[in-house]
Amino acid sequence: MNFVKENGRTIPVADKVFALSGRAKEAIAKYGKDNVVNATTGALFDDDGNLVVLSSVIEAIRSLSPADYAEYAPIAGPPAFKEGVKKALFGNFTPSGFVNVSATPGGTGSITSTVLNFTERGDEVLTHDWCWANYKNICSQHGRKLKTFRFFDEDGKFDAADMEKQLGELAAKQDQVVIIINTPAHNPTGYALSLEDWDNVIRIVNNAKCRVILFLDVAYIDYAGEEDEVRAFMPKLEALEDHVFLIYGYSASKTLTAYGMRCGAIVCVARTEEDAEEFRRATEFSARSTWSNCNRSAETVLGKIYADPELRAKVDAERVGYRDMLLERGRVFEETLTANGVKCVPFTAGFFVTVACDDPDAVCAKLEEQNIFCLALAKGIRISIASISKEKCVKCAEAIAALLK
Ligand code: PLP
Repeated sequence: MNFVKENGRTIPVADKVFALSGRAKEAIAKYGKDNVVNATTGALFDDDGNLVVLSSVIEAIRSLSPADYAEYAPIAGPPAFKEGVKKALFGNFTPSGFVNVSATPGGTGSITSTVLNFTERGDEVLTHDWCWANYKNICSQHGRKLKTFRFFDEDGKFDAADMEKQLGELAAKQDQVVIIINTPAHNPTGYALSLEDWDNVIRIVNNAKCRVILFLDVAYIDYAGEEDEVRAFMPKLEALEDHVFLIYGYSASKTLTAYGMRCGAIVCVARTEEDAEEFRRATEFSARSTWSNCNRSAETVLGKIYADPELRAKVDAERVGYRDMLLERGRVFEETLTANGVKCVPFTAGFFVTVACDDPDAVCAKLEEQNIFCLALAKGIRISIASISKEKCVKCAEAIAALLK
């Protein structure tokens, strides 16, 4: 009957990732989990194939009172949550300027809020060509378009020149451009912008002929490496000029392994109190008129963890153990691939590794014949090393290399 209005969106028949992971689960039921590599899921699993859940976080959840679950949360989140998000996001760094935090359902909500509040209908949002597919969906859902710059040049280096070119094209059409940069532990490649890349980004946005909203999606920051090192770029952003507005998208999904609790925040570092206040008003209004308030119990847990040094130390220590497990998987995957004569797209750390290839669908179909399940992207294959053991990383890298050589 076509009751649904597409409104410029392309609504797929089925979600590709969920369909793929459904087939992987069927294969596991048929052949046993040791004989299947399910590298499809964007969540962290231990080497036995069980979802990683931080027991210290669960302990904190169990300590909540019934009202912590039942009561509405303030739209922007309770004060302790906002303080907790600042600590979780910035670590030991204290940005100068006016920081404002507004709760969102996961990091996804922070992207939606940025698109809704900082672009106009019909605008184009700029991001790197390797990117989380949901950026495009969020833009189309709200009548905006996604434009991309080439993430890597021929030498596998961050392509600052193309970023500058594409931003220049947009600046000729729009008085304000939202740029989304996902780093560190970028999805899907695992790339982290180097400090030199950051110098280039800062130069480019400072020289832009339009206002720029620099949105940094740091959803995976706590799995990218040592806490201070992965935040070393933050002080550099103090050099942003007045026409650049800095926003971070924070996600507790990965940091607390609490994907289902839908907890995140949009955070600005504004130059003036007025800009921070405008940000607060807009993000609270858009929250109220979309998802309303967020999950109070998750916000309370986050607030508790970051207000209690002992509890925080427990959570951090537990996560660091898993982070190091993930870093080791990435190292092993990349080494095996390279030893077999194939390179991955520049990788530093993260939940995913990507291998560029022609006809990714055909390569993934061949892998599936060997019970290896990976996601075919437009220009390559995404392997979720977060969801497979070190041994399976080796098996998967060898199988991909054998097909691509
Ligand atoms: N950003 C990127 C790049 C992601 O891959 C994800 C989740 O997969 C998110 C943000 C947001 O995650 P969530 O909404 O679960 O916090």
